[in-house]
Amino acid sequence: MTDGMNARELFKSHNSLTYDDLIILPGYIDFGVQEVSLQTRITRDIELSAPLCSSPMDTVTESEMAVQLALLGGIGFIHYNNTIEQQARMVRRVKRYENGFITEPVVLSPKHCISDVDEIRSKHGFSGIPITEDGTLDSKLVGIVTNRDVDFEQDRSTLLGEMMTTDLITAPKGVTLGDANRMLRDSKRGKLPIIDENGRLTALVSRTDIMKNREFPDASKSIDKQLMVGAALSTRPEDRDRLDALVESGVDVVVIDSAQGHSVYQIDMLRHIRSTYPDLQVIAGNVVTQDQCAALIKAGADGIRVGMGPGSICTTQETMAVGRGQAAAVYHCSLHCREQGIPVIADGGIRDIGHIVKALAMGASAVMMGLMFSGTSETPGEYFYQNGVRLKRYRGMASIEAMDVGGSKRYFSEDETVRVAQGVSGMVVDKGPIRNLVPYLCQGLKHAFQDIGVRDMRMLHSILDSGDLCFETRTQSGQREGGVHDMYSYEKPALGTRERVE
Ligand code: IMP
Repeated sequence: MTDGMNARELFKSHNSLTYDDLIILPGYIDFGVQEVSLQTRITRDIELSAPLCSSPMDTVTESEMAVQLALLGGIGFIHYNNTIEQQARMVRRVKRYENGFITEPVVLSPKHCISDVDEIRSKHGFSGIPITEDGTLDSKLVGIVTNRDVDFEQDRSTLLGEMMTTDLITAPKGVTLGDANRMLRDSKRGKLPIIDENGRLTALVSRTDIMKNREFPDASKSIDKQLMVGAALSTRPEDRDRLDALVESGVDVVVIDSAQGHSVYQIDMLRHIRSTYPDLQVIAGNVVTQDQCAALIKAGADGIRVGMGPGSICTTQETMAVGRGQAAAVYHCSLHCREQGIPVIADGGIRDIGHIVKALAMGASAVMMGLMFSGTSETPGEYFYQNGVRLKRYRGMASIEAMDVGGSKRYFSEDETVRVAQGVSGMVVDKGPIRNLVPYLCQGLKHAFQDIGVRDMRMLHSILDSGDLCFETRTQSGQREGGVHDMYSYEKPALGTRERVE
């Protein structure tokens, strides 16, 4: 007995279906939700425990997002609305990150004075500052200054060299976090400087951080055990220098960030990357048709990013009339890419867990999200209040504001005097830290896999191919019925703040 229709039938009529237009019919459950694996690949060689990527946007991904998302099993792509040096530094920061170790502590020299400590304390809220010979990291550690050393000194211009503690307890580079924590406990000190064989400061462990540390068994790590990180670059020839700097900084994967990826510029850049760095993983895009995928795979892409117009901040389909409904784009592109062994990342238009499920059920191996991560604590930018609501900025890279600082590289419009924005700039509510949001998304995904009757991504894609995965389209009233309706009032908290049951 067949009920519903398989994906081939679903897309036979060439409707530009979006996620909301369809619904997945349930399968048979014969396993527990804890048995579901979300393990996936985003390129030929890069595996993740969670199929989640953060967008290379200047209000979404810098080092902090990339670190926290990698710890939770996803991967962040650092944006390129910055100088080459700034982007490379962000990549290095992620690669240097060690859970529990402060790898870039604030450092002063003996020639600084107590007022400098006061300033750091008021700005960052911490004290316990290592003092090195020349006031930089990687210089010889000569002391440490804590509140106790300076609190009662009236003259705030006194040099730290006269006040600092020189009776130091340190740990050697390479010490495990467990041993470092034990040393802190036994010595009853607040900070433990980590030094190399020449006595140079390399990191710091803080007692107040110990409580916050936890294990991250799903962390996305490269062979050298460092967190994985991606970064964006444009198709412009000058971004070949950016590429060199990113590789030098240890980037694991680059994404060639272009709104319409099927171009001679992108193919030239792909070929350049392939010939210069044959082992570097490269994601190409954005594309929405099979021909486009074929061209980019032929030129050397290891992963394909799909989406033209579904983004929450995007006005491309309205202004350019070019693009594709995201469900249709993901389905058609994935069909071709799967035959070639190349994973697809469904980029944009994800508002809730259900949209992620649909993207994966259409054949994507992972999703890329801007909106979902926007407003979280790890995004760049400050929170502010409007009408009592705590907000953060979120903007399209093709909004006028972002283009003013370089976002136009994605849209071939850098040299134009009249610029047509393809994105908007706005505000989103505070979603709290992603350490709450990501586990919530993953748990939701596991429940969805269970409802569909698949234990993992491989099984999901295999029933998609065999035609056993069934769908129906939804009418407008079907969509209305599927949402909350007819309540006098109700509350739906922002995603990140929804309660988690451990
Ligand atoms: P969202 O998750 O729906 O907000 O979509 C994020 C995606 O939108 C990004 O990963 C980009 O592919 C795309 N995007 C970013 N900025 C713009 C823009 O200004 N216009 C159109 N699309 C954009």
